[in-house]
Amino acid sequence: MLFKEKLILTRTSLQCRECKKDYDTAFKYVCDECFGPLDVKYDFPAITKDTFSNREQTYWRYFELLPIESRSNIVSIGAGMTPLIKANNLGKKLGLNNLYIKNDSVNPTFSFKDRPAGVAISKAKEFGLSSVGCASTGNLASATAAHAAKAGLPCHVFAPSNIEMAKIAQALSYGANYIAVDGTYDDANRIAAQIGDSKGIGVVNINMRSHYVEGSKTFSFEVAEQLGWQVPDQLIVPVGSGAMLNAICKGFEELQTVSLLDDVSSMHMIAAQPHGCAPIVDAFKKNSKDVVPVENPDTVAKSLAIGDPGDGRYVLKRLAQYNGFAEECTDKEILDAILLLAQTEGIFTEPAGGVSVSILQKMVEQGRIDANDKVVCYVTGNGLKATEAIMEVLKKPMVMKADISEISAVVN
Ligand SMILES: *Cc1c(COP(=O)(O)O)cnc(C)c1O
Ligand SMILES: [Zn+2]
Repeated sequence: MLFKEKLILTRTSLQCRECKKDYDTAFKYVCDECFGPLDVKYDFPAITKDTFSNREQTYWRYFELLPIESRSNIVSIGAGMTPLIKANNLGKKLGLNNLYIKNDSVNPTFSFKDRPAGVAISKAKEFGLSSVGCASTGNLASATAAHAAKAGLPCHVFAPSNIEMAKIAQALSYGANYIAVDGTYDDANRIAAQIGDSKGIGVVNINMRSHYVEGSKTFSFEVAEQLGWQVPDQLIVPVGSGAMLNAICKGFEELQTVSLLDDVSSMHMIAAQPHGCAPIVDAFKKNSKDVVPVENPDTVAKSLAIGDPGDGRYVLKRLAQYNGFAEECTDKEILDAILLLAQTEGIFTEPAGGVSVSILQKMVEQGRIDANDKVVCYVTGNGLKATEAIMEVLKKPMVMKADISEISAVVN
């Protein structure tokens, strides 16, 4: 409300994903009529490829396609424009000639969550909210807390108590009020939703979700630009809530709308989940439209441990729309894939990225990817955030006496 009074003209509105009812932009995320989620709709200005060239090397270069009205409200810690690496070594191992890794492990807080969190915090600033927060499987906690610190806003994090120590240390360091919930992510999420609404907290992935997901679209804008404004043939996307996969599709569609890309309908979206929490893969394989929640997720890929994925139904729709497939992999396959990526491309990812790489391998083995397809594999988080799990499959270095002849004997 505050916001509407201040602005005469906005270039965005909200629209219900289900019944298509339109709303003015406001601190609001569900449809009054049907309780469907609200998506941001744009009055697109004329955009050319030159609009973005020579701009800052962050995702804010796509300002016209993001839901912030005034540049003065941008809260940036320099996220985005991460490398799209031509993965020749891994490609050779798998028999792929055009394999790319989108490496978001090198974002400022070391995961892709800097994209949605940064946009949501900027919007919270634009709305004039006095505090922010999130429900997190680990990475969102730090992304939200870091951007909140930059914005000078207090931040409340709700996360399950069993996540990796590095992720807790990181979020606490940014000054977050960290609430470790003795339960699953779904428990933390439910509590964050209730407290957020009752206290007027901008919970980035719940009551700010319409704006939050817009940040993840930059994953498509960057890939398209880095490929010289081309549409990839195959996209491998790790899936927790499903918000990112859905947003990546929306991003490519918007680039087509503004005529920066030709027909995007040829791309194949592949959803990757860990075996211990794969409700969307299960539904896909049963050809069901409904996602049955996993009550107690059990996986090394803790950032994907969302038993009741908010956007699960929409991911299934996207897979149907974009010639898609969904596949899962075991903890062992995830950890092996982390090492494969590290030892071929020099990229160290956390288990979520291992899920992407493992499913990439499976898609090749199943003959779903051709040797010359342009493949983009999304690596969404950094290995340093999950060293406990990764150490399990590594040989601990032997401590040796500082003696030249003894050590020389083991260096061959
Ligand atoms: C959150 C997260 C995901 C999953 O994103 P969703 O939008 O919940 O599907 C994937 N990878 C990493 C590293 C994450 O932190
Ligand atoms: Zn509706």
